[in-house]
Amino acid sequence: MNDFIPPAKPIIGDEEREAVDRVLRSGMIAQGPEVKAFEEEFSEHFGLGRACVAVNSGTSGLHLGLLSSGIGPGDEVIVPSFTFAATANSVALTGATPVFADIALDDFTLDPASVEASITDKTKAIMPVHLYGHPAKMAELQAIADKHGLMLFEDAAQAHGASLNGTPVGAFGTFAMFSLYPTKNMTSGEGGMVSAANDEVERNLRLYRNQGMLQQYHNEVVGLNNRMTDIHAAIGRVQLTKVGAWTKQRQDNAAFLSSNLEGVVVPSVADGAVHVYHQYTIRVEGDRDGLSKALKDEYNVGSGMFYPVPNHRLKPFARDIHLPNTEQAAQEALSLPVHPSLSQGDLERVVEAVNALVKAGA
Ligand SMILES: *Cc1c(COP(=O)(O)O)cnc(C)c1O
Repeated sequence: MNDFIPPAKPIIGDEEREAVDRVLRSGMIAQGPEVKAFEEEFSEHFGLGRACVAVNSGTSGLHLGLLSSGIGPGDEVIVPSFTFAATANSVALTGATPVFADIALDDFTLDPASVEASITDKTKAIMPVHLYGHPAKMAELQAIADKHGLMLFEDAAQAHGASLNGTPVGAFGTFAMFSLYPTKNMTSGEGGMVSAANDEVERNLRLYRNQGMLQQYHNEVVGLNNRMTDIHAAIGRVQLTKVGAWTKQRQDNAAFLSSNLEGVVVPSVADGAVHVYHQYTIRVEGDRDGLSKALKDEYNVGSGMFYPVPNHRLKPFARDIHLPNTEQAAQEALSLPVHPSLSQGDLERVVEAVNALVKAGA
């Protein structure tokens, strides 16, 4: 059989290895000059026009972003249910309550009408997810936030480089978080980068990530140790020099898939949106699970289901609510390989496999 085509593949080169070695030889391993440089270069690279604070994971970034924006017990934050559990986990970890709104099926991101219907007198903020690398409906969500006096946050874990009408994701919210986990569009090993809309949020982020201190033993708040190491920052700095070309390759791969796949709903891109295809996610109206299994068994093509169980059906968040689009997407969404390591032959095999299986009624 042909080689397995994995659904995702982190790319680590000699430059990353040399950067790690440089840090190890320096004797300064914990958070230091590499982290500072990475924060500045990240903001510059993605044109965020605001300060960034590096942390040890994307989940920590969401948690600290929420704490730094004043979210806590008694508050409600509206989030999608169709996302990775880290989105809701981070809200719950502050003592606040995640409230699940439905998504729109065109781009799998929050449906503004469902968000507005979910607002109560405890609602403090809306936290959309730029799912799969497509920007959420930020203009509509900002208008709702303004009308009701709410903050807007961004889970940009999957969306490095995405934009909407020329504004990069990460420049909309009071804070925004980018994940640097190995399968994301760029990595630092593990890590997260948080952008802050103002000095106060930035300062709070720096306090919370370091035990509540900016200055040694001048603790101001109860904080955590969520610092990034210089080893991880050194990897991230190298990846920043490569992520632009990788994104272009993802977009080219997606264009090929979209113009050749048949019998499935291919991803759409909103007017004015730049999609960075963290995932290339189709909707399969027939037997999605059967198609995924046959892709693996018959064609050695990997695929992913993100996410088969909506958060409002997970044990820690179980809610007696019905979110029709979320439940439909959880059954129909299938992510095909789109990562920059794919060859033209790989892409052709993915298309051939999906088209043949769908035609055969898999
Ligand atoms: C990956 C991811 C996170 C969490 O990031 P980690 O770096 O894995 O902690 C949060 N939200 C979404 C949507 C993600 O995909």
